[in-house]
Amino acid sequence: MIPRFRPSLGWKEILSLFLPASDKNIIKFEEKFAKKMSQNYAVAFPYGRTALIALLKIFDFERKEIICPSYTCVVVAHAIVESGNIPVFVDSNEFDFNMDFKHVESLINENTAAIIATSIFGYPVNLGAIERIQKKYPHIKIFQDCAHSFSAKWNGRPVNKHGDAAFFGLNASKIITTIFGGIITTDSNEIRNKLLKFRNESIKPASFKKRLVQRLYLFAFYFAFKDSLYFFVNWLERKGFLGRLSQYYDEIKIDLPNDYLEMMTPTGARVGIIQLDKYEAILSNREKIAEYYSRELANIPGLKLPPMISGATYSHYVVRVDAGFRWKLIDNCIKNGVQLGWLIEYSIPEMKVYRERFTSNVKCPISFILKDETINLPLNTSNPKKVISVLTKAMKRVGSVYSNYSV
Ligand SMILES: *Cc1c(COP(=O)(O)O)cnc(C)c1O
Repeated sequence: MIPRFRPSLGWKEILSLFLPASDKNIIKFEEKFAKKMSQNYAVAFPYGRTALIALLKIFDFERKEIICPSYTCVVVAHAIVESGNIPVFVDSNEFDFNMDFKHVESLINENTAAIIATSIFGYPVNLGAIERIQKKYPHIKIFQDCAHSFSAKWNGRPVNKHGDAAFFGLNASKIITTIFGGIITTDSNEIRNKLLKFRNESIKPASFKKRLVQRLYLFAFYFAFKDSLYFFVNWLERKGFLGRLSQYYDEIKIDLPNDYLEMMTPTGARVGIIQLDKYEAILSNREKIAEYYSRELANIPGLKLPPMISGATYSHYVVRVDAGFRWKLIDNCIKNGVQLGWLIEYSIPEMKVYRERFTSNVKCPISFILKDETINLPLNTSNPKKVISVLTKAMKRVGSVYSNYSV
């Protein structure tokens, strides 16, 4: 079975299981990561969400409004709440799924402290729109969420370099991984020093248990995502045995993992260093497969294909289908050996816990529709042909006349 995502782990990463690793690996990973992203500094964290909490804490934001997309990973909103601040959600635009900047100005008030500018699915966020906001409101901080996009470029300009800092997630579903982990890049020495101070005061070194468990994860991830073994993982997932590993959020709770203040492990950092060497190859492979899908699916009725944008990094290849058929399609493809992804399947302001706690939030109708219409196709696969053939057959089988997208 072809998994919906797959980390690009090779034997070199597996070898790092058996090699000694120390905090020097973390420093080396930070230096190498900063260089790869063309930035002066990088500071590693246990998770991407911890990195965001750090950014909100070092500026002493307290009960401030933080603008973020409604259609993004829910852990972003969790991090804002955990930091003692208030998420303010902005609807998506239909073109590239990113935050629609035409709504942003009306949401800004004297209590607004920062904007989380997300490049979702690897589509570069509109830096021109951000600059227009910065001109009018120079005190508002801009934090780039590059967890999907890494080095995506908007009109040739790297999004991560724009604004005060960028944060990245490094779990196994991201473009490159440190098993679990997060990192911040910035060109400001002052911000870097504040981050290091925060990290010294608030983040513990990884415990012996965490170091051991992460090695086990690395070992498991290496095998679990092979086509020949993935059916078993899929079975475990369907039976609910993988728990928090596959379902990373809870509809009714705002919570963070127990170890969110326990540092990235040195073994994870060692893996990250090896991953950085392959970074360009990983990106160009994803782009090639995305282009292939766009060519092959161009004339299939009932699919709305994602844009191909120069500078995008394609963390996901996201297709829209009629909401009523989505799960049938996913089920049909799984039976024939291809797992489709269904990320992001919620609009955060409509999730129970956010609806109840943050009642002043405006409606986000586009993300409310996207959450039910999006599927994503495996991008790290040696057999994209099979993906196309299984998907097109499934389209025929479940009835392919999905002409009316809701928007
Ligand atoms: C994965 C992700 C994060 C945070 O990553 P964690 O390491 O899981 O905390 C942040 N934003 C987006 C858009 C993500 O997909």
